[in-house]
Formats: sequence, structure tokens, C-alpha cells
Amino acid sequence: MIYAKRIYMRTVQVKRTRQKEIEAAIAASICIVPGCDSPMHGRGCCKKHLNQFNSGIRRRKSDDEKADFEQQMIREGMVLDSYEQRTLRTSNPFEDLAKKAAS
Ligand SMILES: [Zn+2]
Repeated sequence: MIYAKRIYMRTVQVKRTRQKEIEAAIAASICIVPGCDSPMHGRGCCKKHLNQFNSGIRRRKSDDEKADFEQQMIREGMVLDSYEQRTLRTSNPFEDLAKKAAS
């Protein structure tokens, strides 16, 4: 059950309206939480917001509730999936150019 949820999480799409803001925040290395401009620390968040997110996880009792909470936050663009910060920050001039040409 948990495993299935984890797999599903990988396909969660961030709300389109937040995607641009998130990319800009990542490029500037600041927190992706709206209205916050503290330096990015982990999962796309600053230290304070990452702590709040983690305490939100801890507060939920079952693994299902924890997974649902995490999934919702990723979908709302409040936190990045665990691999995403690194992926998005690794700049690749070839991919950048390809993206530019496609848009
Ligand atoms: Zn923050």
C-alpha cells in the first residue's frame, strides 16, 4: 500500500500556476513558499518552512496520512519531491537552449 502510494507520488503534477514561480525561485536559490525570500535549504524550502513541513509530517499518525500530506504539498507547489531540487538546479546549457527553441 505504501509502496503503491510512493509510486503514485512520482506522477503528481505541480499546479501549473505555480510552476513558473517555482522555477524562478529555484534559479534564485530562494524558498518556493509564496511570499518567502529566505535562502533555499532543502526540498525547495528555507530552513523554517522545511521544519514546518517536516513537523506537519510528524504530526500525522499513519504512513498513509503522511504520504497524503506530502503528496498534497508537492501538488500545491509548497515543497519539492525529494529528488527534484537537485534535478532542477543542475543547469544544462543544451537543455536550456532546446527549451528556448521549443517555446
Ligand atoms: Zn521559506
